Amino acid sequence: MKTQLENIYSSAKADIEKAQSISDIDEIRLKYLSRKGEFNSIKKGLKDLSDEDKRVVGALANQITQDLESLLKEKHDAFYQKELNEKLRKDRIDITLSGKYIPHGKVHPLTSTTNEIVSIFQNLGFSVVAPELSPEVETEYYNFDMLNIPKEHPARDVQDTFFCKLADNVVLRSQTSGAQIHVMETQKPPIKVISPGRVYRNENINARKNNFFHQIEGLYVDKDITFGDLKGVLNEFIRIYFGAARPTRFRNSFFPFTEPSAEVDVQCIMCQGKGCRTCSGTGWLEVLGCGMVDVNVLKAVGIDPEVYSGFAFGMGVERLAMLKYAIDDIRLFFNNDKRFLEQF
Ligand SMILES: [Zn+2]
Repeated sequence: MKTQLENIYSSAKADIEKAQSISDIDEIRLKYLSRKGEFNSIKKGLKDLSDEDKRVVGALANQITQDLESLLKEKHDAFYQKELNEKLRKDRIDITLSGKYIPHGKVHPLTSTTNEIVSIFQNLGFSVVAPELSPEVETEYYNFDMLNIPKEHPARDVQDTFFCKLADNVVLRSQTSGAQIHVMETQKPPIKVISPGRVYRNENINARKNNFFHQIEGLYVDKDITFGDLKGVLNEFIRIYFGAARPTRFRNSFFPFTEPSAEVDVQCIMCQGKGCRTCSGTGWLEVLGCGMVDVNVLKAVGIDPEVYSGFAFGMGVERLAMLKYAIDDIRLFFNNDKRFLEQF
């Protein structure tokens, strides 16, 4: 029986030696050490031995079982480690590889500037004029007459305005102010609106001028509107758009459709008021025009100037974007050069 045990032991060891994988090991364990395995069938014969032999052979059988268990475990662990390494090697992700570049579309800087300005005024209680009240193709009546611009005014010259060749008195609007008239003709005060849009001028194109650009027009008409309200709204707008600590000044000016009129300057953002090339050494930058709506304009749209007053303002989107982002050539907005547009 002892010989039998030793034979099984050496044949099991030989099998373990030849094993190639974890499943081979499992098979060997099943063949020799399971309840129906070869060892168990021999161990069943122990009961027929003398007590002395039982002790000797039993001890030998236990010893062999333990040896085989540890050999199997050793081999199993080695295979397990090897298979694990293999799997890790195959599944390895190279985190040093750069990711795929997916180009993103961007909002044009003039669109984002317009959106920003519109949103500031919306937060100040202004609503945006419906597009049909702010057409780009206008009659002289809305672009000039109703804005108190006299027939002989130089702005009405073909040098400044694009006139339609096929129809009399039709122009590409030279300002968004016409929208004020459309609004006042169709709505009763209180009116508190802004109107962003494209305007056209018959200009020679250079770094500062283009033959079309964008304006945002504002109008507030109600009882007891004063120049103080105008200053409050515009100072608040400039504070938000340019940042808190930026001084402004209101300069006396002239526009046909407002009286009194003013131009608003902001302290130069390049030199902080010390004087530089951008501000022509003055320390100030002009940002918008404004004024109290002229009594003649109110009368022309049927709003009683004895009851109502109002203010209007207009600003160039290109100019405000150029000041904020330190852009020195207006043509950059329209060339569609991706290297420029990608910066925003
Ligand atoms: Zn300056």
